Amino acid sequence: MESTVDRARLHDLMEREEERFVQTHPRSAELFERGKRNLLAGVPMPWMSEWAGPFPVFVREAHGARFVDVDGTEYVDFCLGDTGSMTGHAPEPAVRAIAEQAAKGITLMLPSEDSIWVGAEMQRRFGLPYWQFCLTATDANRFTIRLARAITGRPKVLTYSWCYHGSVDETIAIDVDGATVSRPGNIGPPVPPEMTTRSVEWNDLEALEGALAHGDVACVLAEPALTNIGIVLPDPGYHDALRKLTRKYGTYLVIDETHTICAGPGGATKAWGLDPDFLTIGKPLASGVPAACYGMSEEVAQRIQDFMASLPSTDVGGVGGTLSGNALSLAAMRATLEQVLTDEAFERMIALGERWTDGVAAAISKHGLPWTIQRLGCRAEYWFVQEPPRNGGQAAANDDHELAQFTHLYALNRGILLTPFHNMALMSPATSAADVDMHSQVFEQMCAELVA
Ligand code: PMP
Repeated sequence: MESTVDRARLHDLMEREEERFVQTHPRSAELFERGKRNLLAGVPMPWMSEWAGPFPVFVREAHGARFVDVDGTEYVDFCLGDTGSMTGHAPEPAVRAIAEQAAKGITLMLPSEDSIWVGAEMQRRFGLPYWQFCLTATDANRFTIRLARAITGRPKVLTYSWCYHGSVDETIAIDVDGATVSRPGNIGPPVPPEMTTRSVEWNDLEALEGALAHGDVACVLAEPALTNIGIVLPDPGYHDALRKLTRKYGTYLVIDETHTICAGPGGATKAWGLDPDFLTIGKPLASGVPAACYGMSEEVAQRIQDFMASLPSTDVGGVGGTLSGNALSLAAMRATLEQVLTDEAFERMIALGERWTDGVAAAISKHGLPWTIQRLGCRAEYWFVQEPPRNGGQAAANDDHELAQFTHLYALNRGILLTPFHNMALMSPATSAADVDMHSQVFEQMCAELVA
């Protein structure tokens, strides 16, 4: 892609920021070195070493929209555990419910009453009547795909090029000139993805219909808008057409609201009036305690019940998890939905998302940078191109990794954490207007330095 900033200047500034980072994070540097003795790449998961800067910031503690690192520096957190802490860190009602439930038993393989409350609340928010619980959004997607295959007898899944739905084998695929291939970086796929998946570009109805017309697709798994390659919104009418085409070809529609819950209390499904057969969601549901769920329509539930009745048993059939639906997750989910991620909280969070977007847009325009910003509810993300991409392929081609790493490190050095691997910010119920304005100021200062 064409560079939107002077590269030599960017390199000089990056060098300065790296020096500043190293100087101000001696304790994190020390822990990273110690971590290398027993942790692969020095960190609990390899991607934790891929943040901007020569080593990751180690965290001491986090409350609300802020955290403090082991060097004693405080940050405003706009990453919020990439949505896992969209509730704000350690929200009081959830912490209380977690402590109370932990003292009364954590996991039993028996249902607790909270599950019934949460099921009813999920129906109120998303419309689907029947729910099941698991631990991660990855699990929710995996189980849903298995169930869709089981009740349709069809082998394949349709996903969008450059989507992300967790570590689900069928989804780690992209479209290259009409062919489904493994996504770059796919680690140990069990079979070539074209055997399990039809990948098409977002917003391309012709490609979608062509793929569905084969008659072998059990379900389409889609986010309401792509959020994992930047925010790529649907064209007007895209969702209506997607729904019509899936029905025409007998394919189930699975909507993954794990990130797009940012659009409102019932996600984009409620905000945009979507009508999926299945819905999956995880991450923030239990204020960071592992918890996820998947919902389904009346018709799907009936087919699944009939299918399950035909099996000798369901406990080792590939849909399960010993800790799934445990009492602790459900108590945390109930407190989170009842008292933290409330309808009123979303109103404030979305207003802050607008404020964040306005601040960034004003700086982009003041300094004449050919960049743009996209927002979905309380989530916003800027692009280093003038026109927002219309699909994943375009978005991936527009990635300016070096510039993104710089913007992240510049913000980090000034007490602001953005979501790594893209330029995303999320608002929590604990985020304040002052937090947002602090980002606007730092972002403006960075733009001024880049164009100086
Ligand atoms: N669905 C979406 C839309 C996601 O963005 C992610 C993770 N980024 C997942 C599912 C998987 O979540 P987890 O890693 O918590 O299983």
